[in-house]
Amino acid sequence: MTKTADIVVIGGGVNGLSCAYNLAKRGVKNIVVLEKGYIGVGSTGRCGAGVRQQWGLEENIILARESVKIFENLSGELGFNTFFRQGGYLILITDEHEHEIVAGTLPLQNRLGVPTRLLDTKEIAELVPGLNLDGVIAAAFCPTDGFCYPYAVLWGYAEAARRRGVTIEVNTEVINVEARADGTYTVSTGTTAYQTPVVVNMAGAKTKDIAAYLGITIPTQPFRHEIAVTEPLKPFLDPMVISLKKGFYFSQSIRGEIVGGIGDEHEPSSYQTGSSPEFLLRYAKAIRDTFPALGKARIIRQWAGLYDVSPDARPILGGVDGKPGYFHACGFSGHGFMLSPVVARLMSELITTGCTSIPIDGLNLARFDGGPVTKDPYVVG
Ligand SMILES: Cc1cc2nc3c(=O)[nH]c(=O)nc-3n(C[C@H](O)[C@H](O)[C@H](O)COP(=O)(O)OP(=O)(O)OC[C@H]3O[C@@H](n4cnc5c(N)ncnc54)[C@H](O)[C@@H]3O)c2cc1C
Repeated sequence: MTKTADIVVIGGGVNGLSCAYNLAKRGVKNIVVLEKGYIGVGSTGRCGAGVRQQWGLEENIILARESVKIFENLSGELGFNTFFRQGGYLILITDEHEHEIVAGTLPLQNRLGVPTRLLDTKEIAELVPGLNLDGVIAAAFCPTDGFCYPYAVLWGYAEAARRRGVTIEVNTEVINVEARADGTYTVSTGTTAYQTPVVVNMAGAKTKDIAAYLGITIPTQPFRHEIAVTEPLKPFLDPMVISLKKGFYFSQSIRGEIVGGIGDEHEPSSYQTGSSPEFLLRYAKAIRDTFPALGKARIIRQWAGLYDVSPDARPILGGVDGKPGYFHACGFSGHGFMLSPVVARLMSELITTGCTSIPIDGLNLARFDGGPVTKDPYVVG
């Protein structure tokens, strides 16, 4: 069967759905989102949903700051409670090198309107009673950072997009994209060929595979990241507590569960999303070392998802020279949930007007064509 669409969005994760919603809000009609599974099957439904503005590079700070502004009003805008809670992000500092990085970038964050401040150990103990401060020399705290319930954000964007006329086809895998002689594209699923002038490729870790159909090479790699949740506990933890050096993060959900994860520098690149006992042991140790009183808390569930990692751990956004009407957003490297509201807004501006209200040229694919790339020191691997 052949159908036409003004825009086809590939991927029903937070980026695809929020982009479709923003495009519809800008007046685009006949938008079709193609999702190979159910809404939430990708990384978004598996993520920690943390939202922070504490970054080292100006570009990242600005994008995150603008995203927080959108998150603050998103429940009202979508008519759906996203459970965004601004308990702050507490970044633990355990050595002089980390201290130097944080102290060096804090003035930049403050100048850009992000209210991060350095806390001494007494202030940390007041903010998070029960946190083990052995080896902690200070912490960076931004009170307007926070986290959401990721499924609520997905469902909220999906419902709001549908209300604006967007068609979302689930269980519909894109198996090919072809450029046609007339400058439009054919996006094929098993049953339908969509003819469209605009393709928006937001398929998470599979974005590069979709791009490859059009001869576009995206240098991202998938990495499994595992995550776990404890039984519900009495509320005691307001901020998301993280360590850039040790790669862990913990937050307490509105239901009282401690949700957290810890990276593994030895994890090979793969598309596997199974769970491992090794992670469980590492995670249990990290949670017990960080909050000794949680030594007896029961971990009730673990799962895993993919980080789509780019060479500089920054997103890849925009179009591609020589492929008019083709756009992508990927390579979020474990931070794509927090940026999605602003990325969707900017991508929808780019697609409908050709320019963006905040520059994103520095994040285009062409930056990997040669020359060194800059990694943000605030990346949690
Ligand atoms: C354990 C874990 C913790 C994380 N914690 C955080 C965090 O605290 N904060 C944060 O900002 N980020 C976090 N992330 C990263 C975040 O989840 C991702 O960056 C973000 O969700 C990416 O959203 P997306 O819409 O681009 O991709 P996805 O959510 O992966 O969506 C892409 C969709 O495309 C679909 N798709 C793929 N191929 C096709 C095809 N051929 N046809 C049709 N559909 C297709 C997939 O099924 C999927 O639903 C975490 C990730 C993990 C795994």
